[in-house]
Amino acid sequence: MAKQIQAIRGMNDCLPTQSPLWQKVEGTIKQVVSAYGYNEIRMPIVESTHLFKRAIGEVTDVVEKEMYTFEDRNGDSLTLRPEGTAGCVRAGIQNGLLYNQEQRLWYIGPMFRYERPQKGRYRQFHQVGVEVFGLNGPDVDAELIMMTARLWRELGINQHVRLELNSIGSLEARATYREALIAFLEQHLDVLDEDCKRRMHTNPLRVLDTKNPAVQEILVDAPKLSEYLDDDSKAHFAGLCELLDAAGIEYQVNERLVRGLDYYNRTVFEWITESLGAQGTVCGGGRYDGLVEQLGGKATPAVGFAMGVERLVLLMETLELADVRRSVDAYVVTVGEGTMMAGMKLAEKLRENVPGLRVMNHFGGGNFKKQFKRADNVGAAIALVLGENEIADNTVVVKDLRGGEQTTMAQDEVAAKLAELI
Ligand code: ATP
Ligand code: MG
Repeated sequence: MAKQIQAIRGMNDCLPTQSPLWQKVEGTIKQVVSAYGYNEIRMPIVESTHLFKRAIGEVTDVVEKEMYTFEDRNGDSLTLRPEGTAGCVRAGIQNGLLYNQEQRLWYIGPMFRYERPQKGRYRQFHQVGVEVFGLNGPDVDAELIMMTARLWRELGINQHVRLELNSIGSLEARATYREALIAFLEQHLDVLDEDCKRRMHTNPLRVLDTKNPAVQEILVDAPKLSEYLDDDSKAHFAGLCELLDAAGIEYQVNERLVRGLDYYNRTVFEWITESLGAQGTVCGGGRYDGLVEQLGGKATPAVGFAMGVERLVLLMETLELADVRRSVDAYVVTVGEGTMMAGMKLAEKLRENVPGLRVMNHFGGGNFKKQFKRADNVGAAIALVLGENEIADNTVVVKDLRGGEQTTMAQDEVAAKLAELI
């Protein structure tokens, strides 16, 4: 036998047994975002490498070590998108969607990061992103958080996620804070690892985001960004907190929350679960008022979030919420001369007359026992049985595969009977 070829490490198949849960999660997300009047945007998976370097920041984990970058046949440097915001802003500017306009957008699709694969962390993963342009008040920040809270309720995971919130202020406020933070870090060089030391001067705020426990410990005493916030950002944050209180959404203010990408300002937030171990952030977002201008557009306020679909699916599985609707309602069993064609015709008629009904025909022959076993394996609730006698008098046997009872009825009446069942 020829040698098998394997998938790329960290890039997974979504198997037929898993796809019903994925569809449920994706379907619920689509329903929730459209309930707020947001529109879908679809961007290319590949973009110019410059876009991500300029948008995300050179001194970030994503740009420094995680991008899938390659040269195409022209020698241009291209990158598989590691996140969606940069491409969304690029598309918005290029297509004139952002110029003096409001946009409420969402997208879903694969993202690529060269990370160490482990539970909840993959090299190809999927994000749902939501981005709002042209609105600068805390009201829209609050709406995005309320939207995610509604999603958690719809998925049944609201008791298992908590919200962390912070404001990282304006660019100017962060510049002053930066000096204070560098001065503090310089007194603790012995504890800092290589990454932190390197970042201390290029992008010291990123040190606050470190996963190194020893560094986290000394950071407890670091100067706090909140003490350096500008008055406008303070008022914006107070406004957001007030709206969330009014909406009954609980949150913890985490003064060290800064997020991994450079473009954020003011509001940053994360939804975290304790049920998935180290990969516990299921959704993260915030405001990025400077990014549109930074990418060549007219200055436009913006806010958004992204969530990891794999982590949501994993959380639902962990919480045993993965029980989704079976994929077949009725299974057509046929035995005898000429019954196969009649069975296919009956199924076609039912598909026409009962919208939403899932009907599967048995193929490959075999006796009743074998066919009922197949019906059971695919999870059908009902078997529709056609033998030579039924064909002769235009009837069909409807067998309840759960309860066991069976009735014979005219083929014309089956549609009405099945419509009751779904
Ligand atoms: P982390 O701290 O876990 O690396 P991040 O800050 O890099 O996350 P973001 O860039 O904010 O993540 O992406 C938003 C969401 O996308 C994350 O909260 C997470 O749910 C998901 N995500 C990010 N990277 C991965 C990955 N490699 N595999 C699976 N999901 C991911
Ligand atoms: Mg990361």
